[in-house]
Amino acid sequence: MQPLPEEDYPKQHRHPNEADRREEQCVNPPGLGKLEHEHRHDRGWERLILTTAFPPAQRRCQQPRWYTRAVKALLLDLDDTLLDYSGGVDESWAEACRTCCTPRGHDAARLIEAVAASRRWFWDDPERHRTERVRMQEAWTKIVVHAMTRIELTDRDLAGTIAEDFARRRRERMRLFPDALDCLHRFREAGVGLALVTNGDARQQRYKIDRWALEKYFDAIVIEGEFGVGKPEAAVYRHVLDTLSVAPSDACMVGDNLEFDVDGPQRLGVRGLWLDRDGRGLPQTTGIQPWRIIQSLTELDGLP
Ligand SMILES: [Mg+2]
Repeated sequence: MQPLPEEDYPKQHRHPNEADRREEQCVNPPGLGKLEHEHRHDRGWERLILTTAFPPAQRRCQQPRWYTRAVKALLLDLDDTLLDYSGGVDESWAEACRTCCTPRGHDAARLIEAVAASRRWFWDDPERHRTERVRMQEAWTKIVVHAMTRIELTDRDLAGTIAEDFARRRRERMRLFPDALDCLHRFREAGVGLALVTNGDARQQRYKIDRWALEKYFDAIVIEGEFGVGKPEAAVYRHVLDTLSVAPSDACMVGDNLEFDVDGPQRLGVRGLWLDRDGRGLPQTTGIQPWRIIQSLTELDGLP
């Protein structure tokens, strides 16, 4: 199975190929000999620091335990983390195909099936995924062109028309998850540095940020289409940490993508929290061990 197509891909296929992943990388709690409670002031608010003691050999690579050390920065993914981006993607493609094919006398059902196959083909290639996800409108058009070629359907304007119709339907369906704004408010009020770290098309990501007025919550926003490279590249996370002036060990990254949002930051020492909203659990083939797995952003309550 290929690396995760974060954009526009059926969720049930969304596990990356991690067969050659590095060894598990658990973040060990501080080496303290007993349970300690410490109050201190940091950036104007009081934190309760709980550290649970285990000998180093036992701590190493155990299932992530819910100790808490001071979190100075929280990094968040956008699509399918704060924003329900993928909900209704299959339906949107089907409706777009039906709407555009029926008046022209084309077989919509046949094209819907072909588009589904072309989407898998298109996003399954990691390099194509990387280069095309920053130009989503073009990518969607190419997918329809590929599908039409597959079923030998000729209609000069059809691919672009379907792609535009699909994009409109996606915009209409997008919603913030109910826990998103509460999470942002709470961490903002706690004085924790916040960064939005998102891959993809600059114009589309900015549209989402503007539509839900998210910019005001963040100290840093890094969009792949603007920055030039995307997650899981170390340069992205180093840039974010530098912007927030925090050490990797003082930061957490939360996202739905194991490779981009967990493995990438954990390689630098940032704690990675995998958001598994559907509760499917880690894929059996993965070698990635998130620091913590959560099903909702409300589970971040223990962090600040
Ligand atoms: Mg995501």
